[in-house]
Amino acid sequence: MDSPIDTTLLNHQFIVNDPLHYLFDAVKAIAVQGYDEERCVIYWNKGSELLYGYTSEEALGQKLEDLIIPHDIRKPVVDEITVWLQKGTEIPASEITLRHKNGKDVPVFSSHVIFTNKYKNKQLYCIDVDLADVKAAQALVIYKERMLKAAFETIPDLFFLMDEEGVINYYHTSNKKNLYKLPKDFIGKPMGDCLPTDIADKFIKHIKKVVKQNTVECFEYKLTMPQGLVYFEARISHLHEYKQVVVIIRDITEQHKSAEIIKHHAYYDALTLLPNRFLALDRLSQLLREAERNNEKIAIFFIDLDDFKKVNDTLGHEIGDKLLIESANRLNKVVRKEDTVGRLGGDEFIVLLKDVNDNLNVLTVVENLLKCFRESFSLDGRDLTLTLSLGIALYPDNGTTSSELLRNADIAMYQAKSLGRNTYSFFTKKMNKSMLRRLEIEEQMHGALERNEFEVHYQPKIDIKHNSLVGAEALLRWHNPSLGNITPDEFIPIAEHTGLIVPIGSFVIKQALNFLHRWQNIQQNPYTMAINISPRQFRDTELLTFVENTLTTENVSAKSIEFEITEGVLMNGQSYIQEALIGLNKLGIKLSMDDFGTGYSSLSYLRRYPFDVLKIDRSFVKGITIDKADLDLVKAIISMAHSLGILVVAEGVETKEQVIILHELNCDYLQGYYYNKPMTEPNLIAYSKKLLCF
Ligand code: C2E
Ligand code: CA
Ligand code: CA
Repeated sequence: MDSPIDTTLLNHQFIVNDPLHYLFDAVKAIAVQGYDEERCVIYWNKGSELLYGYTSEEALGQKLEDLIIPHDIRKPVVDEITVWLQKGTEIPASEITLRHKNGKDVPVFSSHVIFTNKYKNKQLYCIDVDLADVKAAQALVIYKERMLKAAFETIPDLFFLMDEEGVINYYHTSNKKNLYKLPKDFIGKPMGDCLPTDIADKFIKHIKKVVKQNTVECFEYKLTMPQGLVYFEARISHLHEYKQVVVIIRDITEQHKSAEIIKHHAYYDALTLLPNRFLALDRLSQLLREAERNNEKIAIFFIDLDDFKKVNDTLGHEIGDKLLIESANRLNKVVRKEDTVGRLGGDEFIVLLKDVNDNLNVLTVVENLLKCFRESFSLDGRDLTLTLSLGIALYPDNGTTSSELLRNADIAMYQAKSLGRNTYSFFTKKMNKSMLRRLEIEEQMHGALERNEFEVHYQPKIDIKHNSLVGAEALLRWHNPSLGNITPDEFIPIAEHTGLIVPIGSFVIKQALNFLHRWQNIQQNPYTMAINISPRQFRDTELLTFVENTLTTENVSAKSIEFEITEGVLMNGQSYIQEALIGLNKLGIKLSMDDFGTGYSSLSYLRRYPFDVLKIDRSFVKGITIDKADLDLVKAIISMAHSLGILVVAEGVETKEQVIILHELNCDYLQGYYYNKPMTEPNLIAYSKKLLCF
């Protein structure tokens, strides 16, 4: 404090401005201070007490700069006041930051006025309005603005602000490459004028809706941009109070791509890129709806590659995959653009032909499909020939639903297979019946082993020269509660097809060996047992080990076992079959060629493989008494077999005449109804006991 307080003077001055002070004391929201020429406080209202923390008593007589002026601005403030008091240069009202008693900043809007009282003393009055709230609000606005700016910098969305008519007033983006036009070409223009018509229409429609209903609208669209096709998602909301519309646009190309990939995966086969089963059947349903409306015909082809499994098994999956891809390409080339080729799974394909007027049309495509496989496939330096079997079902003749048509085309395909493959077959009602039966058998066969529905019967084998029982052939019987008795001729091919022949065949081997051991013991006779083995069983790599183990567990000598196989087994020419045959031969098991005369009757097989026995098919045996050609054939077979050291069994012997002729022809063994039908274990034991008694 520069000077001691002159209270006399103070009193004078108070008196002078009393009416004003009276007024100022009443307003607490405004801080009013009076200073004399020395800048000492002569008046300090309630508002000043509240704003700066000093009571009136504390403030009176103190210098302005000591009380509320921060250090760094003391000099300019004092100078300014001095100039004003001396020269009359007014200090303009302004924002200024002063200081509270506690040292904190006090932002104020400060106005000043100078009075000259009747003693000619100049008095400075400061009227300060607290700006703390305003400043805080301003700070908040700035903070929010910066935050928003930072947010916009980090998110790649486009942000537009427009009026309710869609005229763009403002935009922001950190990702300029997604702007369809330059800002100068869209600012101040309606959004609708800046985009292609179809998309502009979408925007206009949604903006109208948002304005009218105060909702948030969201929609997707795509635009061709310099960087390619870009997918966008637009969100539109209404700033009702400001009559503005906010549009936020997000680039969703990546999401779109992922969604496409997922969709593609769900609808297309990953290997061949053809429509998968799901999509193909969906297209079929669609075609059916169209065809019904337009009175059109549709053709459905069910295609199965012949012997594909064999290729896959022997040459490996890689070649198999390549073959499938190439097959898919070939099939695709043959059909018209509007037709569909799909992969149903594995080596099965479907072809859908729309609007076929007659069967001739269909046949042309069928022939072209078969033809396109005539050229061999050249894969990894190998030339492979592959054929296909094709089943045809027509809408509306063979069904009206997609599942019915697919099933019937499948049935027709089976027919094509049984016609010898590499061919086609139209569906007929008769096929349906046999197919249903087939499916029923297949269904019942699952679990039949576990339910003990199978039983092995035995048909005796007679030595012609000694007229004695030497052994038996194991023949499988199946009784199913719902289907009754099913013959092996019917169920064995199905068991082969499904692969169930492997466990079923093992069951037969085990049963037959188990029985043979008991039979030999009971009768004290080295009977033999012939067991039929299917081609499919040879593909099972476990066969040899299984046979070896079963021989041990059932305590049977391999010498008394004979495996009957057909030429079909050998025709595949696979090395694993050769290995299995050699392995079985090494164990001591005899090999018998079954049904001789019905297939290729190739002599070379008899030479190449270690056969011990040959069985003349019963169709020739039947003919020997009536047909000279059959007689000659049987004669030739027997002498040829004997020349190779192979014993001969004649099957299906039903009459005494046949027995006499076969005896004359030097046949070794006989089997047939003339002697016995296949019989159960106890019956065979009883039969052989009876024989011994004679
Ligand atoms: P296959 O191996 O040629 O068996 C002979 C078939 O002729 C048997 O029919 C037998 O009952 C029948 N048969 C025997 N003697 C006569 C006769 O004098 N006249 C007539 N008309 N038929 C006679 P089945 O038991 O119905 O077997 C049919 C075919 O099923 C068998 O022909 C065989 O290929 C197959 N099979 C049977 N059991 C098995 C088996 O356990 N495994 C395999 N893989 N195939 C089997
Ligand atoms: Ca047989
Ligand atoms: Ca046979």
